[in-house]
Amino acid sequence: MPTSVFSQLDKSLHEHLSDLMRLAAKADDRTAISLARAELPRMVTALKALLDEHTPDENGRCPTCRTRRFSRRLPSPCRAYLAAHLCLTITRDEPRATRSDQASSRRHGHLRSAG
Ligand SMILES: [Zn+2]
Repeated sequence: MPTSVFSQLDKSLHEHLSDLMRLAAKADDRTAISLARAELPRMVTALKALLDEHTPDENGRCPTCRTRRFSRRLPSPCRAYLAAHLCLTITRDEPRATRSDQASSRRHGHLRSAG
């Protein structure tokens, strides 16, 4: 099968993301600041667009993913939503939320207690 348009799109997207990760880690401060100002709003916009598709309803179910048979019975936010939530809300100082971390527990308690 020839390389599809979609796989080419996917490849360029991942290359772009890899470039961002590399620059964020290794570029000098001035470049990093410019990068953040230029790219952060775009990343947030992209993430919001994705989350709009996967926002849990009042029962915690994803209106997009619940139409698939395998996830129909899951009474929790979908993996896409949880992955975004965990990636964004767990800081590097706290790789795992602990019981002693009251601030974190308060912020994430609604998700943890739902399961
Ligand atoms: Zn979903």
